[in-house]
Amino acid sequence: MNIGEMPEENDARIEKGICSSCGLCSVKDWPMQESLQSCVFKNGWLGKREKALFGRERKPDNPEEMRFGIALERFTAQLNHPLPDAQWSGIVTTIARKAFESGLVDGVATLHRSEGSRFFSKPVLAMSTEEIDASRGNKPVLSPVLRSLQTAARKKLKTVLVIGAACHIHILRDFKDRFPYLQDMEIYTVGIPCVDNVHRDKFHWILERMSKSPGTACHMEFMQDFRIHIKHTNGRTEKIPFFSLPQELSNPDIFPVACMGCFDYLNSLSDITVGYLAARLLPDQNRQWLIVRTDKGKKLLDLINGQLERHAEEGIWDCRKYVLQNAERVIADMKNTNALYSPDRKIPLWLGHALSWMLSRTGPKGIGFAHYSVDFHLIRHYYYIKYRYPEQLPVLVPRHVRSILQEYNLPL
Ligand SMILES: Cc1cc2nc3c(=O)[nH]c(=O)nc-3n(C[C@H](O)[C@H](O)[C@H](O)COP(=O)(O)OP(=O)(O)OC[C@H]3O[C@@H](n4cnc5c(N)ncnc54)[C@H](O)[C@@H]3O)c2cc1C
Ligand code: SF4
Ligand code: SF4
Repeated sequence: MNIGEMPEENDARIEKGICSSCGLCSVKDWPMQESLQSCVFKNGWLGKREKALFGRERKPDNPEEMRFGIALERFTAQLNHPLPDAQWSGIVTTIARKAFESGLVDGVATLHRSEGSRFFSKPVLAMSTEEIDASRGNKPVLSPVLRSLQTAARKKLKTVLVIGAACHIHILRDFKDRFPYLQDMEIYTVGIPCVDNVHRDKFHWILERMSKSPGTACHMEFMQDFRIHIKHTNGRTEKIPFFSLPQELSNPDIFPVACMGCFDYLNSLSDITVGYLAARLLPDQNRQWLIVRTDKGKKLLDLINGQLERHAEEGIWDCRKYVLQNAERVIADMKNTNALYSPDRKIPLWLGHALSWMLSRTGPKGIGFAHYSVDFHLIRHYYYIKYRYPEQLPVLVPRHVRSILQEYNLPL
């Protein structure tokens, strides 16, 4: 059980409960009890926070808004000149760089790679173009982004851009509204979609079970072709079908409770979300998916609009049969808290590749793939919480999740 685990320094006398190590509790300049009051794992996802930001909650009769959140505009795009070594084409880093160079913000709260591992992070308040450029690329571990707010407050910065996952943005918005410490600071946010993040002490164990050469892995992404793509230092890309992962990697206990209790995959409280989920996967392109949510998000987009090759969203919305194909198995897995997970693959690699190949041609694409992925994860997380932490169900789960489960006639 991961409840109460906390890799960053903390005051052991205070019970934290579920925690994604967002970094706010390790700030020393205000009481940790106050940081905790803003924790999304105490306040729950969306609901009042969504209403505070947009003046309303997402509409239950709008299927796209229920999944993707409230938006002014959604489209797919890639940078005309992609940034080398970025996670996709580097839209996030380019927005941050432009926001800083144009004087819109005085600093950027984000992450650098840690010295020990290119997959691990350390929080940084980037205050030069070089420091912003060095923040590009994913660090697929829980990361204390919000710790840098202390540095920003000490430096009395007037405007700050925060790049974070949904838990960071939820906690930040609540804290800024509830307490006086950041009230003089104008904050812009770029959100990344985020799911299946891991504690750093589990990361290498997982990588060793995914890759034939974990020591040379330098970039990893779960792709729309139903495979994990792992790039290696020699330039080779290893592709592992989701269906052929060792069974022990489907054990929900390898993920932090926080991430299994996460109900905002698409970072719906950010000013602009930059991901890839609904973007078309094309050889030699790194198309991304942008969801502009607020006027501040529009201002951030305007900084880079001229550098984007833009495309309308594509794909067929309906993915019901694919969701239902998996739902029963997922619910049974979440219910069975004593299951044993073998290190063997259920499906050999060659068959997994054939299945991925077939699904990437016949299965959901574009917004259909994003729809499928959002629904799959919210079903998995709802039943994880229901069977393992039932007392958290009324706290964590936003109301649209139940409406979506009802669409599939799944039990509440
Ligand atoms: C664990 C994880 C899972 C993800 N899953 C999905 C997904 O399922 N679907 C999807 O569309 N997108 C997902 N993303 C986001 C996606 O991989 C890209 O980060 C995003 O599309 C931006 O690409 P870019 O080239 O513009 O980013 P870059 O220009 O390379 O910038 C990436 C930015 O993200 C920040 N960052 C990296 N890791 C973290 C972290 N752990 N916490 C907070 N900030 C971080 C970096 O510091 C940097 O500022 C995930 C990201 C992470 C970390
Ligand atoms: S998620 Fe953040 S606010 Fe919540 S307990 Fe952990 S460090 Fe504190
Ligand atoms: S999956 Fe959710 S809780 Fe976990 S790091 Fe990402 S946004 Fe935070």
